[in-house]
Amino acid sequence: MAFYGGVHPKYQKEISCSKPFESMPSPEIVHIFLSQHIGAPCTQTVEKGDKVFAGQKVGESEAFVSAPVHSSVSGVVVDVLPKPHPSGLLSPAIVIQSDGQDKLHKSVKPRKNFDKLSQEKIIELVREAGIVGMGGAMFPTHVKLCPPENASIDTLVVNGAECEPYLTCDHRLLVEESEKIFSGMKILMKALGVEKAVVGIEENKPDGIKALSEAVEDPFIKVVSLPVKYPQGAEKILVKVLTGREIPTGKLPLDSGVVVENVGTLAAVHEAVASGKPLIERSLTCTGSGVTEPKNLRVKIGTRMKDIIAYCGGYKGTPERLFVGGPMMGIAQPTDEASIIKGNNGVTVFSRGTFQDPEESPCIRCGKCLEVCPYTLVPFYLASLVEAGKFSRAKEWGILDCMECGACGFICPAKRFLVQRLKYGKAKVMEAGRK
Ligand code: SF4
Ligand code: SF4
Repeated sequence: MAFYGGVHPKYQKEISCSKPFESMPSPEIVHIFLSQHIGAPCTQTVEKGDKVFAGQKVGESEAFVSAPVHSSVSGVVVDVLPKPHPSGLLSPAIVIQSDGQDKLHKSVKPRKNFDKLSQEKIIELVREAGIVGMGGAMFPTHVKLCPPENASIDTLVVNGAECEPYLTCDHRLLVEESEKIFSGMKILMKALGVEKAVVGIEENKPDGIKALSEAVEDPFIKVVSLPVKYPQGAEKILVKVLTGREIPTGKLPLDSGVVVENVGTLAAVHEAVASGKPLIERSLTCTGSGVTEPKNLRVKIGTRMKDIIAYCGGYKGTPERLFVGGPMMGIAQPTDEASIIKGNNGVTVFSRGTFQDPEESPCIRCGKCLEVCPYTLVPFYLASLVEAGKFSRAKEWGILDCMECGACGFICPAKRFLVQRLKYGKAKVMEAGRK
């Protein structure tokens, strides 16, 4: 059940994997970005000076591929203006001053007999709750629940791999909220009209595998223990490993008869459908050598990274690198002012001295990057095409298939900045495509 390629970075999950979730109190200020998902950004539905409640919709879009956003606290809208977004750019956000009371909006109430809801009603509730992929992809979940008529979906694939080093929030969800995950799975299986589901969890989470296996009461749901290898949790890899099906270049999982959801998304689906609670808080891990007390947390969407780090005892040593997410696929941040959006599963800080700064040297054509690329790309050649500005040639050589996992750069003895070049090259190819 192993996949081609992959690497074994230092996982460092022992720093936080046995720490139960703490609910971080609401911060004084939250920034609710109007763009927290793949697809059309929202338009604000509140104005400066409005009083809002936790769970109240504050942004909406009529586009199908979009998801509404909600206030994560009760308080007052103090402004709507561009703020540092985890993408590294400035992006419009609704700035809400919390009143510290977390009063819920009247629409947030538990739903009796939620297991009797129709497929259409489930899809509507998932959309209204603003659920998007919480493993990082941020694709609106209701869109996945409405496949085209010619797609024949028969399996829900559940991603509990959490292969990213340092991060442990999905692990803790499996241990602490396995019943919610199972409930979310049943809800989505009903919405999709499928009878089968398969969950992939890396074997370094034995207590998570045990907890979910015990919670699952359905002979058509399999919980599978996977060998530890990065990037096991990449969508195409997980589908291949768990179902044997390939997802061809340029195609989606639904083209191969599957829908993939992360365990955090399933817990959020349960909250939306059973508890009537929109996606206003999420689990994440705040960790790394630069954090005084690493923790697994439940935080309000819109919380600033600096507030999360302060809640974890502040910086340890001199912070040198800060990521939203983990060190392999996370996004390096120029500031700790950025605020958390729905897809952010970690805040990772490294203090000065954790790493030696890599000195890039010329490629020695050792071929190691080629051996570890799970998609059998030729990273050194693609990077050289990008350097030479030969973007259409890079497209022919499959640069758009690169999932930016960083395995090639990790293994490279010459410390080539491969993934940075590949990201740049992909952006240029996509820009040319749009023109
Ligand atoms: S970053 Fe891209 S090229 Fe490098 S190993 Fe991952 S998928 Fe392959
Ligand atoms: S691993 Fe580095 S040095 Fe080796 S072929 Fe790839 S880019 Fe060149």
